[in-house]
Amino acid sequence: MTKEPVKLLDDEGLTFLTCMQCGTCTGSCPSGRYTSLNTRRIVLSARRNKDVYHDKDLWMCTTCYQCQERCPRGINIVDGILALRTESVHMGLMLPDHRKVAGLVIEKGHAVPINDTNRDKRKKLGMDELPETVHKYPDALDQVKKLLIATGFVQLVKDTEGKEKEGGQ
Ligand code: SF4
Ligand code: SF4
Repeated sequence: MTKEPVKLLDDEGLTFLTCMQCGTCTGSCPSGRYTSLNTRRIVLSARRNKDVYHDKDLWMCTTCYQCQERCPRGINIVDGILALRTESVHMGLMLPDHRKVAGLVIEKGHAVPINDTNRDKRKKLGMDELPETVHKYPDALDQVKKLLIATGFVQLVKDTEGKEKEGGQ
């Protein structure tokens, strides 16, 4: 059974109830400049126990933590967003693009493909051409896959497939 947002956050040791709606989070949010994400509104909806789980903006957060760093009330905004998002996924709600990313991680062990452009950018920055991931250590892919199965991630993605339509996302 889905928990109400306030109860869910409380169970995670988090709360949005001390928010004073100053808007610093929204003003700090890089994603909000390019998407409909309004962090202050997400916080308000959650503290009012509204159904934030179906709010697509929940998925527009890039978890950069700019808002959390600046919140004058010290609210763990991003940790709360992640907790709400996790509940949302258990309800079967995941945006198609995020489901694609999940599929990439399950199949290739990495969400960001490495291509010539990315390799060149890394070289120009003085970094190794390949990151310290399965791109560099392809033999580790089996272990990554085992971990994804052991944590229940693979099953979760499988079980929730197609539920977006039922859930309205
Ligand atoms: S910065 Fe903190 S107190 Fe201000 S609106 Fe955002 S969550 Fe609320
Ligand atoms: S962590 Fe998310 S909500 Fe906070 S500023 Fe970054 S993108 Fe915006």
